[in-house]
Amino acid sequence: MTKCPICNGKIEYKSEMTTYTYKKHSIEIAQSGEYCMECKEAFLSQKDLKSTKLQIANFKREVDHFLTTDELKRIRKKLQITQQDASQIFGGGIRAFHKYETAEVTQSKPLDILFRLIDSNKISFDDIKRVAI
Ligand SMILES: [Zn+2]
Repeated sequence: MTKCPICNGKIEYKSEMTTYTYKKHSIEIAQSGEYCMECKEAFLSQKDLKSTKLQIANFKREVDHFLTTDELKRIRKKLQITQQDASQIFGGGIRAFHKYETAEVTQSKPLDILFRLIDSNKISFDDIKRVAI
């Protein structure tokens, strides 16, 4: 796109700081896309949206009090298990942890609570394995 379909103004591909609001909480994110230099309209492609998807998903998780993708991964690694192992023990389908850790899907609240308890050593992973398998 070279001309704005709305005002015929000049279009530039760049990154702009954008305010993203969720449940009355806001963050500033750098959103790349095509922007009109005249009317300031933004034209975002699937690729542009994908570039901020993880950041937005983690922001929502923080607002909703869920572990972020990095926190979830850190705790899983602490247990020294693969994504497949974790999915087998905690359920949710073979690709469950891949989905949670890439923010494709948010983990369930019970799983989130369980991981927090494991992380703070309130529950041992051995206890879980004993009842899970
Ligand atoms: Zn325009």
